[in-house]
Amino acid sequence: MNELDLACESFRKLLQEQMQRVEHMNSDKTDFTSKPCITIGLIDGDGIGPLIMKQAKRVMGKLLDDEISSGTIVVKDIEGLTIENRLQKKQAVPTEVLEQIKTCDVLLKGPTTTPMGGKMESANVALRRELDLYANVRPVSIQDQNIDWVFYRENTEGEYVLGSRGVELPGMAVDFKVTTDLGTRRIARAAFEYAKHNGKTRLSIVTKANIMKKTDGKFTAICHEVAKDYPGITVDDWYIDIMTANLVNEQIRDQFQVVLLPNLYGDIITDEAAQIQGGVGTAGSANIGDRFAMFEAIHGSAPRLIEQGLQDYANPASILKAEAMLLRHICRADKAERLEKAMQQCPLMVSVDDSGVTGESYTDAILQLL
Ligand code: NAD
Repeated sequence: MNELDLACESFRKLLQEQMQRVEHMNSDKTDFTSKPCITIGLIDGDGIGPLIMKQAKRVMGKLLDDEISSGTIVVKDIEGLTIENRLQKKQAVPTEVLEQIKTCDVLLKGPTTTPMGGKMESANVALRRELDLYANVRPVSIQDQNIDWVFYRENTEGEYVLGSRGVELPGMAVDFKVTTDLGTRRIARAAFEYAKHNGKTRLSIVTKANIMKKTDGKFTAICHEVAKDYPGITVDDWYIDIMTANLVNEQIRDQFQVVLLPNLYGDIITDEAAQIQGGVGTAGSANIGDRFAMFEAIHGSAPRLIEQGLQDYANPASILKAEAMLLRHICRADKAERLEKAMQQCPLMVSVDDSGVTGESYTDAILQLL
């Protein structure tokens, strides 16, 4: 077979796999209100991951002490999702680690390193796919500027699902982007449901549908179809380029409430939003599916922080925000509020520069306030 035929054959296989994925998309939702025992998996990750997770575990131990003792909550350390083990096994998520993960209901995960180039897929992308975590929810708020945004990023499709499966021909490389009806409908439904139940009146759909006509065109059309079931919510459309500018436009940015986007745009713009809030070290993120959910900081493993010997200043605020989201997800809203309130009231901020507040001393202060 020549190279063109091989590429076409590989594309045909991709299309068949995607059609199969859609067939298995619907599953029953876990009901945490009636579950007698919930298992929380803790994954350290790489780089600053184990350091910030150490602080997150101290806080979790205090908040869930009674439930861990009574057995209504089981906390399980999951080993082996490290860059060393993943490279050795040549698997983004080694099989035995995935088996452990699937025994849990929810996960709190430290950041994981993705080697640049090469064939190794990101552990996050693999986990989102394997656990079908289709909604990536990222809240950003700045009280004194009246900013209260919640981003609903589609998490299992777009450029990411086939990101490691592109084809190369002589002098040419092609990647693939996929958007499905069901995949879009369920993320749109999740965003509108959130808006409806949290008093939000505006939802903004963000794409590049003027250029990516098929995939983003479908995304926009389906989101508008879903919107018809939510007459109390005003819906508007933006292209990702102007939306990126909108977030730094102080005249209008406080008017945005819920933002619904495909995977890649959501990935990029939520880092911008987190930076506006105070840096990627300050934002938490939830990856939610019907059966499983995974909570994490929005940032990566910060290898430069370690190289510079500044690991004590790895900020755990991001993973603690994710921990609060996890507690809310498993219907422990009272405990989530205690943590959020302690974080709001905490006078300290992790900082290398002036105050010298380390991740550990910041967490000491949080524990005092709980
Ligand atoms: P990064 O988010 O790790 O770091 C970006 C900048 O933010 C750096 O200056 C870093 O020092 C700083 N920073 C990040 N978290 C911080 C914290 N808690 N406290 C203080 N400063 C913090 O981004 P990167 O350098 O582009 O990525 C490093 C690795 O992480 C890559 O391998 C990337 O693929 C991976 N990554 C993983 C995830 C994840 O697991 N969810 C997300 C993004 C990137």
